[in-house]
Amino acid sequence: MDLIEHFVNGKKFSGDSKKTGKVFNPATGEQSAEVKLASSADLNKAVENSVNALESWSNKPPLQRARVMFKFKELIEKNFDELTKIIVSEHGKVYEDAKGSLTRGLEIVEYACGIPQMLKGEFTENVGTNVDSWSVRQPLGVCAGITPFNFPAMVPMWMFPMAIACGNTFILKPSEKDPSCSIRLAELFLEAGLPEGVFNVINGGKEAVDAIINNKNISAVSFVGSTPIAKYIYENCAKNEKRVQALGGAKNHCVVMPDCDLDQAVNGLMGAAYGSAGERCMAQSVVVAVGNIADSLVKKLAKKVEILKIGPGLDKKSEMGPLITKEHLDKVKNYVDIGVKEGAKLIVDGRKLNLQGFDKGFFMGGCLFDHVKKSMKIYKEEIFGPVLSVVRVKNFDEALKLVNDHEFGNGVSIFTRDGDTSRTFSNKAKIGMVGINIPIPVPVAFHSFGGWKRSLFGDQHMHGPEGVRFYTKLKTITSRWPSGLRSDPEFTMPTMK
Ligand code: NAD
Repeated sequence: MDLIEHFVNGKKFSGDSKKTGKVFNPATGEQSAEVKLASSADLNKAVENSVNALESWSNKPPLQRARVMFKFKELIEKNFDELTKIIVSEHGKVYEDAKGSLTRGLEIVEYACGIPQMLKGEFTENVGTNVDSWSVRQPLGVCAGITPFNFPAMVPMWMFPMAIACGNTFILKPSEKDPSCSIRLAELFLEAGLPEGVFNVINGGKEAVDAIINNKNISAVSFVGSTPIAKYIYENCAKNEKRVQALGGAKNHCVVMPDCDLDQAVNGLMGAAYGSAGERCMAQSVVVAVGNIADSLVKKLAKKVEILKIGPGLDKKSEMGPLITKEHLDKVKNYVDIGVKEGAKLIVDGRKLNLQGFDKGFFMGGCLFDHVKKSMKIYKEEIFGPVLSVVRVKNFDEALKLVNDHEFGNGVSIFTRDGDTSRTFSNKAKIGMVGINIPIPVPVAFHSFGGWKRSLFGDQHMHGPEGVRFYTKLKTITSRWPSGLRSDPEFTMPTMK
């Protein structure tokens, strides 16, 4: 059995902890590896190395840091197929989807190549008589990232390329369910010329996370995962005086207006609801059917859900792969049972799917519910599986209220041909990322990613300009040279004369 270790100070690191976790191939249901689960001593060792690497890395001119990024980008491109296959083998999503997610990660590296421009700061000559002032953004120190299973490359890449380009060192604690991609990225970054100790990967679960929260040498923590853990990270990191951004769960709605191009909406929804088996924080899990569109929408959706091509991720014909673990598969199926008991109408039932040759894999078929009500558990909670709920409403105002009343606020979209409706919607929706005739409105690298309400605890979104702000602290310097000094005592800033 393969053993996945940590990656510290430029090499594999075994650590003292004897604890391990199991990594599966979700398509076959077989265990593919054991992963080391770090103790707090193991985490502290990685931080020690990160502290040692910090001074020299943070003092490197941004241009030199950018050159390492350029090389890293090249190496990711060269090893794209290998990285994609690692994602498929441990997460289960289909190859094209895995490739797409790695592309989104690569785009953050491309953005980080422009770091000299982003760290330029501001200068004002003569803020007072003969007094100049300028602002610079300096690195925070050692930063840490804690990431979920559903994007083993992209979500870590929202964080570490930005943090490292800004001059910080970084400890990544990826999901223990699919950790191999992070280790491979760390090896490639080293090959690109990144000094040892600047980027470290520590595998583990709660003990490793708590060690991150409690380590005094970690200045900032970025988290992505479920809402209860996001809240825990946010509260405890803040208590320990760390800067923190903690992104949580979601329940994304798609509002379908009667005037929309229905085929366009249905095609968009298929990918948004069932892509990656619904294990996406930006998955559409609720369709809000407005007015008289509902019957034809449900009919068209049902036809497509019934013929979804489900299979292992490496099979080119597969449109949807397995779920991550047996436990998660059971949890999602249980939600479907609950929905039926609650009285929602199950139009397509994917619970009984049995794939020949893959009967031990964690597969299920797509499920479609109609007549889902606001009070139902399947509406209120994040299912994180291939289950789409249709809620019928009378008009636009009712749809908007539904979206805004939900506790989560990650993403939302609307399908309509009406400019007025879409403008009002994007203006009034209490949601961080809005799509207009775009089913999954994930911002590209040079914008920033983040939700509202209980989908994000903290102030800053990830990557893009917000990423630079999060991973740097602002310093403003005010200066005067001796020829500008006054001869009389002065009690105020010379802004008046
Ligand atoms: P999770 O919360 O179970 O795990 C996330 C991370 O926290 C992992 O690294 C895990 O090891 C760690 N962790 C788990 N339990 C912990 C505990 N009790 N104490 C400390 N650390 C703990 O999430 P997951 O199942 O890996 O991922 C799915 C969730 O992530 C979904 O809710 C999804 O919506 C969310 N997600 C959100 C975004 C976003 O941008 N908002 C993006 C991707 C995923």
